[in-house]
Amino acid sequence: MNTEYGEYNKELQTALESVRLASKATSKIQKSLRNRDIEKKTDSSPVTIADYAAQAIVNKHLFQYLGSDQKMVAEEDSSDLKQSTNSELLEEVARNVEEIIEVSDSTEILDLIDRGNHDASSDRYWTLDPVDGTKGFIRGEQYAISLALIENGEVILGVLGCPNLSSIHMETFEPGKEEGTIYFSVKGRGSWSAPTHELIKKDKLKINDKIKTDDCRACESVESSHSRFSYSNRIFDKLDLSLPPLRLDSQCKYAVVARGQAEIYLRIPTDYHYEEKIWDHAAGSIIAQEAGAIVTDIKGKRLDFRVGKTLKKNQGIACAIPAIHNKLLEAIGDSL
Ligand code: AMP
Ligand code: MG
Repeated sequence: MNTEYGEYNKELQTALESVRLASKATSKIQKSLRNRDIEKKTDSSPVTIADYAAQAIVNKHLFQYLGSDQKMVAEEDSSDLKQSTNSELLEEVARNVEEIIEVSDSTEILDLIDRGNHDASSDRYWTLDPVDGTKGFIRGEQYAISLALIENGEVILGVLGCPNLSSIHMETFEPGKEEGTIYFSVKGRGSWSAPTHELIKKDKLKINDKIKTDDCRACESVESSHSRFSYSNRIFDKLDLSLPPLRLDSQCKYAVVARGQAEIYLRIPTDYHYEEKIWDHAAGSIIAQEAGAIVTDIKGKRLDFRVGKTLKKNQGIACAIPAIHNKLLEAIGDSL
């Protein structure tokens, strides 16, 4: 047993390798993404061959090494891919998966994708967003491969592959020139970051809590349909933040807080009825928390992962370093 990660060493190593393999596929796909590689789901959100390929790769590796009794709650399913009108899309998915991992045929790929259809009702399950921030992925910007293990409603382990997040700079990253970073965490053990292709060069993450509020930097979504900027602007003004918010897609925002390049990640609901998905927050929240940040919803409630596939008991996200989390909640209360 590796004492650094305790009893979860095998799960962690397997999760890291599956995310690393998936990020190889998504990086390659992103560089040459064409319109015909993108499709609209029934809820009209976009999905690409990278989402399907990454889900098949992660599931193949994870089930192979941890056993077929693992339960997986993943964002995608194969129903659209199975349509005869999407046969070319399926061929492209298969071609990209086969470059990374051995599979027998496209029927196996469809089965692998659908191994992610657990309903989050068990005491122990994995949750996966194969490409979190698909809109960022399509724009050629940030996205993340997000995998977490949940036991009895608590996130126990999280891995976040950020293929376009440089290990040092955040705004000067050139996709293709560098290979991005992976962030990972085990409950009670801490959080680490490492270059995607040299996990051995990992660094333990520890946020600096001694920052004056007006020197703090906030981050939020790029997409105005995912977070209400008119409110967040008001909240950042109330806190007197001198720097403009950093806008980036996906759970990279949690990683950026965990590594000390921002002190706040704020997500204000745009629609009162929207329920955040567990795969959009499980891995990122444990990584930020284990690095020292506080993660709650905008009312100050802990994220409740015990109620199925969504965080239906929570509203939005308020993640911040301890020194300002309370001030952030106060500013939210005054502004909403
Ligand atoms: P971000 O990259 O932070 O903009 O978040 C991307 C995630 O937002 C996607 O994975 C979606 O699941 C999620 N999303 C979709 N619609 C909404 C919405 N109306 N409000 C908040 N999040 C959403
Ligand atoms: Mg997502």
